[in-house]
Amino acid sequence: MATDEFELIRRYFSDVGSDQSGSVRRTVGDDCAVISPPDNRDLVVSIDTMVEGVHFPADTSGDRVASRLFGAAFSDLAAMGATPAFFTLALTLPDNDPAWLQAFSVRLAELSRQYGVQLVGGDTTRGPLTLSIQVHGWTYPDKALLRSGACSGDRIFVTGTLGDSKGGLETLLKNIHGPQVPYLQHRFYTPEPRIDTALLIADYATAAIDISDGLLADLNHILVASNVGAMISPGELPISAELHQWVGEAQSREWALTGGEDFELCFTVPAKLEPKLGWALRNHSVGVTCIGQISAKPGILFSEGGRVWPVEPQGYNHFTNKHRV
Ligand code: ADP
Ligand code: MG
Repeated sequence: MATDEFELIRRYFSDVGSDQSGSVRRTVGDDCAVISPPDNRDLVVSIDTMVEGVHFPADTSGDRVASRLFGAAFSDLAAMGATPAFFTLALTLPDNDPAWLQAFSVRLAELSRQYGVQLVGGDTTRGPLTLSIQVHGWTYPDKALLRSGACSGDRIFVTGTLGDSKGGLETLLKNIHGPQVPYLQHRFYTPEPRIDTALLIADYATAAIDISDGLLADLNHILVASNVGAMISPGELPISAELHQWVGEAQSREWALTGGEDFELCFTVPAKLEPKLGWALRNHSVGVTCIGQISAKPGILFSEGGRVWPVEPQGYNHFTNKHRV
């Protein structure tokens, strides 16, 4: 590696975040980081990659790329009910743009402090702009929230509002301006990993997933893994006033169901635990909405106004639907 790349790592990535779990023994600067796991915890690990032109438009500012990358990566820990601890960062950079790197690392450091995690190492190479974050977190043994635990009769919940990120992307692609655009683009660029919500629901949830490919597609992963089906009330879908005002009822519903990258949680809770869930969430700032319930028969049904009909779980798939931003 060239000397200026050591300097780059030292300047931008040697002091990002802090280790609230007290487990980091050696961080950036040696051949490996050294971690001393807390007693009696399971290590939960996931990696997320973003490519310029695929996951975000070319010329996106460093702070926006940092927010999007961080939010998407840590959202997976939320989906597992894990407490975030530390992460590594693989960077492929086309050139050394100090202003971009400065904005990227400042935002990364802010988010790392906010979520109590530390950047402990990574890799830096030259090439088309590509970024990966590998996240690490802890759960109590066998307490990770899996996709496979949903049972017939469980209620299905989602956090926040759905479809906003897709709306934000559309405004970017079509260069649309208007009063709702700043909110929608903020939702696209700044997904909030629902870590706090996940830790509050973890004792009650039987299954969970984060919504990266669209509600139907991701709910379907829970259904297949749990060998169950679902009845959804589309009228209950949480949709922001901004999205609704911009595209109306039908389009906002469609994006809430199939638009990707909201990074909200979808989870299931036994009906009898619903009151306890409500109590656990009583002072929580993130909205949690019941949108339906798990049924024994596989497949997804919609129910509205006394009518019931089946739907196909569609969603964004990188290999069948190659759109580029
Ligand atoms: P090696 O050649 O031994 O793999 P490198 O020279 O690639 O190590 O990296 C030197 C140190 O800097 C290592 O501790 C590595 O983890 C860290 N590092 C490299 N790139 C990054 C990055 N983008 N973010 C954080 N740490 C990094
Ligand atoms: Mg080495």
